[in-house]
Amino acid sequence: MNWSANTDLSAYNTFGIRALAERYVVLRDRADVEALSEVLRLRPQPLLVLGGGSNLLLTGDVQGLTAHVRLKGISVVRQTAEHVWVRAGAGESWHELVLHALAQDWGGIENLSLIPGTVGAAPMQNIGAYGVELKDVFDSLEALHLPTGQWQHFDREACQFGYRESVFKHALRHQYLIASVTLRLSRRDHILHTGYGDIAQTLADMQVSHPTIQHVSQAVIRIRQSKLPDPAIIGNCGSFFKNPEIQPAQYQQLQDRYPRIPGYPTAQGIKVPAGWLIEQCGWKGRRIGPVGMHDRQALVLVNHGGATGAEAWALAMQVRADVRERFGIELTPEVNVWPA
Ligand code: FAD
Ligand code: NAP
Repeated sequence: MNWSANTDLSAYNTFGIRALAERYVVLRDRADVEALSEVLRLRPQPLLVLGGGSNLLLTGDVQGLTAHVRLKGISVVRQTAEHVWVRAGAGESWHELVLHALAQDWGGIENLSLIPGTVGAAPMQNIGAYGVELKDVFDSLEALHLPTGQWQHFDREACQFGYRESVFKHALRHQYLIASVTLRLSRRDHILHTGYGDIAQTLADMQVSHPTIQHVSQAVIRIRQSKLPDPAIIGNCGSFFKNPEIQPAQYQQLQDRYPRIPGYPTAQGIKVPAGWLIEQCGWKGRRIGPVGMHDRQALVLVNHGGATGAEAWALAMQVRADVRERFGIELTPEVNVWPA
């Protein structure tokens, strides 16, 4: 393995925050993953597993090891007339996988178009957008248990997926390196999800009356490009906080005070868009030094240039305190903060 020292991670996190990795290595195959596990067993130390860095806030230099996951490959594991099981290496780009699926006319992930990052990170928070989550098409994954060097297979149940959650963010945090993910996609009779947000309107604007999965993907891409800041232009990690789910009684009380408060029923209660709460606190488009909340989507914390991770975190905590004070709701970061 080729280790390097004091590697600048600015180009490897979409916030574009400068942080030095004490020791950095690129993992290209399963043997590299096993060798990494061996190093950790011989000399236990902190390990940052890095995918596309699009859901990661580095608040300082990274002590210990940083392993950049670049395992590649997309293959068909099996297929029936209705479905295809596709396995992708953890280091594949998620959006490239979506485009690959669309080119073969495989359905199920078109609503997840243009989500940055890697395939291997997708199960971490059960990525979701426009009414579809990874768990809807997830079959299984393969991961190495770092403390023992054993390969393990996880099915959907074992991953304990929830809203932007999985077992890998909780009970099994920092224990596994995900090497590949297998999805079950449709080969025919695709089920389209066009009822969410602006998708139907955008399809109408595109003058599409009989949408295909390719049209849905194009509509999602169009909406995302019009609304979300491109990390290549302005540093960000998408939604900084999760949308909180509150109890119906609390929602009712808030609705009495704020009749326009949006809410969506879920199995856990009522989901309130965090972006709305943040906007009501006056943070939309507001900036403190090099960091701020985006002017089109208040849930997105942006680096206007040259910000440190500490400055971004301080802003996030200020926003969280304001939402708590005004609405009595505690926001939880969706972005992974390192060190935690
Ligand atoms: P990283 O940021 O590199 O890592 C995220 C976490 O996973 C870290 O804790 C890391 O240690 C861990 N990790 C990464 N790879 C592995 C692995 N192979 N094995 C074990 N652990 C690993 N997310 C959504 O869910 N829906 C959206 O619609 C969405 N839109 C976004 C839009 C923008 C503009 C941006 C910048 C981000 C958006 N995100 C969205 C967040 C982000 O893109 C996803 O969470 C994505 O899955 C992160 O992938 P990554 O490879 O960049 O992960
Ligand atoms: P939006 O459409 O302005 O809606 C705001 C929030 O309300 C969304 O986050 C969404 O929750 C919820 N919502 C809206 N319509 C809903 C419905 N019909 N049913 C249930 N919940 C509904 O959101 P946006 O910011 O433009 O994002 C669009 C989609 O992309 C959302 O799914 C969002 O999660 C996803 N996205 C995620 C990230 C990220 O970093 N995680 C970044 C950008 C966009 P949900 O989040 O549960 O869908």
